[in-house]
Amino acid sequence: KASNSLSFSLQAKMSRPVQARRLEGIDKNIWVEFVKLAATYSKVNLGQGFPDFPAPDFLTEAFTRALGGGNHMLHQYTRAFGHPPLVKVLAQFFEKLLGRDLDPMTNVMVTVGAYQALFCCFQALVDEGDEVIIIEPFFDCYEPMVKMAGGTPVFVPLRPNPPKDGKLMSSADWQLDPAELASKFSERTKVIVLNSPNNPLGKVFSRGELGLIAELCVKHDVLCISDEVYEWLVYDGKQHIRIASLEGMWDRTVIIGSAGKTFSATGWKVGWVVGPNRLLQHLRTVHQNSVYHCATIAQEAVAQGFQRELMLYGKPESYFVQLPKELQQKRDWLVQSLDGVGMKPIIPEGTYFLVADISQFKSDVPDVPNSDEPYDYRFAKWMVKNKGLAAIPLSAFYSEAHKSNYTNFIRFCFAKEEATLKAANDILQKWKQEKTSS
Ligand code: PMP
Repeated sequence: KASNSLSFSLQAKMSRPVQARRLEGIDKNIWVEFVKLAATYSKVNLGQGFPDFPAPDFLTEAFTRALGGGNHMLHQYTRAFGHPPLVKVLAQFFEKLLGRDLDPMTNVMVTVGAYQALFCCFQALVDEGDEVIIIEPFFDCYEPMVKMAGGTPVFVPLRPNPPKDGKLMSSADWQLDPAELASKFSERTKVIVLNSPNNPLGKVFSRGELGLIAELCVKHDVLCISDEVYEWLVYDGKQHIRIASLEGMWDRTVIIGSAGKTFSATGWKVGWVVGPNRLLQHLRTVHQNSVYHCATIAQEAVAQGFQRELMLYGKPESYFVQLPKELQQKRDWLVQSLDGVGMKPIIPEGTYFLVADISQFKSDVPDVPNSDEPYDYRFAKWMVKNKGLAAIPLSAFYSEAHKSNYTNFIRFCFAKEEATLKAANDILQKWKQEKTSS
């Protein structure tokens, strides 16, 4: 039998707080709940952002070659800051895109997906008390990552200006108010996070909008974390402009990319950062002391994927030309299908996401007044449980203080097989019919 003093000391130990202070208030996460709901109930999953079609053959073949090709060293550690063939080809590729010479060893670093690139950036560049400007709506992990680094997020919204001619809204109709943006910069501002093309809206920032952000960064000596994971996914002849190519911006910008998004292989978790050594040297310190490096085999295969793309650059056979073409078609199907049932889509100029207005479907899902849960969360949960269709509530991409202003929208991912999009259309059509006949 346990002695009294032993059970006392065990209890005393258990009452000590186990959680580090930096985790306070960031323990809730939309993905845990919605990924589980989709796995349990969905017949058609347009929720989380990943393709359900295969990665291109040239990429999976490169992986198989790396695995069985006789170079057994590909099963061992590689260089911490990036497998040499991958950083070399990334440097060559980005030299072309940015029009400047790059050193593969100091201007490029490989990470475990863009996610870890973001984590390295916030840990390396943000200090206690620093302010970080985040444009709403935003990829949700920016906020907890800033807080974990001890920084204070400062939010500035993209404001919708619906077209007056009754046309469908476009992601381009969501804009920053220049005076409001300028008012967020102060001597406490260390970083602004830019995500163009933007998840969840699909907005592709124009040269004018980027110019405004660049001007403020230079004026206030602010850094820019530029999350460009959807750089190749732009539609209707739009051009993705890299803020690092604007005057005064290279020295203060870290560009983030993702092989997951670029080559439709999100499970590989290969990402990268490109930027000046004065910033990357500090990212290397974080990376070295946390993750060390990303799987060698995956890096080798991605390097070969980029070598192919470098050779085919701008040609019709290039995956970076073909993928957006295919996705634009899928976007158009989903736009048509949602517009047809009155779930008004906001036409995205980029990414593989589309935000739609659920106002006309609200009567099916009653609101619960004074609930802590935003209405769009309730709607998305109801939809997956009752209709088998999974999507993500838009307010998940807003800060706590602003969630309640954006509860009429849900986000769909359209990087899906034709059959998946058809099945989604069938669900929506049937739902609409039930509504009109009831
Ligand atoms: N940034 C944005 C804007 C994203 O949407 C995502 C993935 N959903 C990431 C970063 C993370 O990318 P990865 O899968 O390469 O970690």
